[in-house]
Amino acid sequence: MNAIEIRQLKYRYHDGTEALRGLSFTVAPGECVALLGPNGSGKSTLLQHLNGILPEKILGDGAVRIAGEAIGTQNLEAIRRQVGLVFQDPDDQLFCPTVEEDVAFGPQQLGLSTAQVTARVQTALAQVGLTGFEHRSTHHLSHGEKRRVCLAGVLACEPAVLVLDEPTSDLDPRGRREFKAVLRRLPATKLIATHDLELAVELCPRAIILDQGRLIADGRTVELLADEALMLAHGLERPHILHHLHPHDHHS
Ligand code: ADP
Repeated sequence: MNAIEIRQLKYRYHDGTEALRGLSFTVAPGECVALLGPNGSGKSTLLQHLNGILPEKILGDGAVRIAGEAIGTQNLEAIRRQVGLVFQDPDDQLFCPTVEEDVAFGPQQLGLSTAQVTARVQTALAQVGLTGFEHRSTHHLSHGEKRRVCLAGVLACEPAVLVLDEPTSDLDPRGRREFKAVLRRLPATKLIATHDLELAVELCPRAIILDQGRLIADGRTVELLADEALMLAHGLERPHILHHLHPHDHHS
């Protein structure tokens, strides 16, 4: 069964902007897929459909399925437990005074016992390399640490699918490296919208390119990114990392 199935997904905002014009693709359990495309190509709109944030689309037309289940009003809560969405801006996601409270918020909503919540918080902080940060103020963290707290909050709910919107934007090189190392260790199915093509090459064997709400390409990341004409035609560029890497060298 597919972890994610998107079938002929269309979405038009209230002002008439056609953000998605009939997208279809599937993601198998455990896959890590990069979602690439220029600004305005529909990446964020697509990600928001995966856990039903966009209310008009939750009516169960079968366009978005998670683990085989079409997202609908009746199963929205269950779907949101399975799909963890990490927003682009950590300040949109963090809202409790301390790291511990913030990471605990999700599991508390799941109705777990205090002991279970504490265990989830400890595990999630360890997964993102922030053990010992429990009592730190969420407002006084570096940008990279804030991002990792957001990810911990999502991981604490143990989602089967992780959806990340620009996880490395605004991070310095060390922050990027640390965040990529954290992501690499996570076994969940991942869909990562990013302009960080090095991240795409390093973490995602497969990439999907969107442009103007349409799926332009879906294939092996190194092959797509090495296709200079394709990249330039869709506002992307061949990353430097590929100048040292030939498609047949890539085994991940
Ligand atoms: P990306 O994440 O790839 O930058 P988006 O999904 O944010 O793309 O945007 C896709 C299209 O939808 C763009 O044309 C954008 O201007 C438009 N759009 C995004 N959000 C809204 C909104 N709230 N209302 C109207 N149009 C929007």
